Amino acid sequence: MCGIIGIFDHEKAAELATLGMFAEQHRGQESCGMAVTDGRGFILRKNMGLVKQVFPPKALKALPGRIAIGHVRYPTKGSATDYNSQPHIVATLSGPGYALASNGDIVNYRAIRSELEGLGVYFNSENDGELILKYIVYAVEKENLTIPNAIKKLMTNVKGAYSTVLATNDTMYLFRDPHAIRPMAWGRREDGAVVVASESCALDILSVMQRKEMKAGGIIKVTTDGIEEFDNCAEEYRECGEAKHCVFEHIYFSRPDSHHFGEDVYSIREKIGAILAAHDDDLNPDCVVPVPDSANFIATGYAKAKKVEFSLGLIRNHYVGRTFIKPEQTIRDESVSQKFNPLPNYFKGKIVVLVDDSIVRGTTLRKLVKMVRKAGAAEIHLRIGSPQVKYSCYYGIDTPNREELIANAKTLEGIREHIGADSLKHLPIEHLEKCVKTPKEYCYACFSGNYPISLKD
Ligand code: AMP
Repeated sequence: MCGIIGIFDHEKAAELATLGMFAEQHRGQESCGMAVTDGRGFILRKNMGLVKQVFPPKALKALPGRIAIGHVRYPTKGSATDYNSQPHIVATLSGPGYALASNGDIVNYRAIRSELEGLGVYFNSENDGELILKYIVYAVEKENLTIPNAIKKLMTNVKGAYSTVLATNDTMYLFRDPHAIRPMAWGRREDGAVVVASESCALDILSVMQRKEMKAGGIIKVTTDGIEEFDNCAEEYRECGEAKHCVFEHIYFSRPDSHHFGEDVYSIREKIGAILAAHDDDLNPDCVVPVPDSANFIATGYAKAKKVEFSLGLIRNHYVGRTFIKPEQTIRDESVSQKFNPLPNYFKGKIVVLVDDSIVRGTTLRKLVKMVRKAGAAEIHLRIGSPQVKYSCYYGIDTPNREELIANAKTLEGIREHIGADSLKHLPIEHLEKCVKTPKEYCYACFSGNYPISLKD
């Protein structure tokens, strides 16, 4: 998972891009980068680390220019290295330069890469952003296509999820895959600068007033003369015109203060909580406690619906990095205990509903249930705001291999026992569908195995 940002025509483009990337830090904490052009060529700065570390104020002084594109990365495909970080840039001998940042994953990466390699194109990373960029640059430089036509060609042949920003020295292009899998929004500030971001929370901090979601299969060209929009769903998608937004963005990944796929993220989470509560008639808990922060709104939804006390009974240390992507199980276990701590004297004798957004390997909840029991809880009932995760995601969310997913290794009762809870319930897909306005426009593949784009590689 990753986050993108693009700023067009602002004297402090790099500064604005940094603010936007910081607002999207939750989408990628491994590395980040920015490419800025002053109209002549791109300056690129990228490195492993968080936005504030890679882009301190002094670094921004060395990034002059009116167009900036940025990226925060959370590796899915390709290792966590600076060469796999984005943006990627290409400079040509004849002059034009290109820079690109993308969020998503390409499913026929290998096939397209070998096709381009066969044509003499060189790759210096395993990152899909580089593939998208080089596909477009090849079509423009070698096949004489315009950039919008090169993007249309890409949309027909390159499959997967991509919310992408591409800059040349004087133009910014925005485009999104025909299924609009990852979020992407754009708009104009009062000072005229155009901003694009993965999530609307980044547009908030940049005071973007008029904003829109990028259309599925849409292409936008931004120049100082204005904005040109192309509705260019690739051929094969034209008839269905079907959006397949990632439902896991609403459940877990996005910030609750973002709005996308036509809905407020926090309100979907509250609905999920309310539906979980509606199917718990026979349970009378003393309190509802979320696994912070991702399950906070699911738990408030549950507590409101059931009219039970909501409590932040578990405190999260915000300085612990991602526990989920640590390479070894022992390290993941240790990180969970460093990350959470129960309130003293809160849980004693209580019947607790503990709410989390998902169970993947079962690491987090196994540790937390032990912790809450040790803190004195009489009963712990786990309520999970998603169906069981049984399939890997190939469209940009980092899910482990199927064998590592606990839902494939054990029965629901086996998982409850392994985690040590008194009861365990998930939100079934049919109920999840009731939480969104347009249920047919979502991808549920990690729960159902129905992949909307066939997996070519
Ligand atoms: P696990 O501990 O392996 O069962 O993972 C579940 C926990 O990780 C939940 O608390 C989620 O909030 C979080 N989580 C779920 N999916 C992801 C993901 N793709 N990347 C990072 N964290 C995740």
